[in-house]
Amino acid sequence: MKSPTELSEAFRSQGRKLTPQRQAIFDALDGNPSHPSAESVYDMVRVHMPSISLRTVYQTLNDLTEMGEISQVDLGLGSARFDPNNEPHHHLVCSGCATVFDVAVEVDSPLPDLEVPAGLGDGFVVDSTDIIFRGMCARCAAGQQPTDLGPVP
Ligand SMILES: [Zn+2]
Ligand SMILES: [Zn+2]
Repeated sequence: MKSPTELSEAFRSQGRKLTPQRQAIFDALDGNPSHPSAESVYDMVRVHMPSISLRTVYQTLNDLTEMGEISQVDLGLGSARFDPNNEPHHHLVCSGCATVFDVAVEVDSPLPDLEVPAGLGDGFVVDSTDIIFRGMCARCAAGQQPTDLGPVP
């Protein structure tokens, strides 16, 4: 994703509505690795800007997705997540605390470049491949509770 300043420019030059609420959403997404849902973006922005509506958050996320600045990913977590990381990458999803981690795809990555084997897939043309690794993050695997959820009674 572009920087919040560059995004503001892009919004202006494309004649899209630019408001302080929308700029606060750019700030919330900037360098944010948490793959937030629209609701969690709303919660983040509302702290500083109580006047924002969930509808504005949805609209802005849709605009950014349309512009290719962020992508909407379905990580099987029950709600669409938004990802400002436009570098090719895969995801690790913790089944304990639902934390999502990015795994960069390096040029000499040991991750296989998946292709539909010849003769299978019936002529299907692949645009992109998403790999989701499911398991436990180091903290959950060690049996520790995520700090923000507090101790389990
Ligand atoms: Zn975890
Ligand atoms: Zn990601």
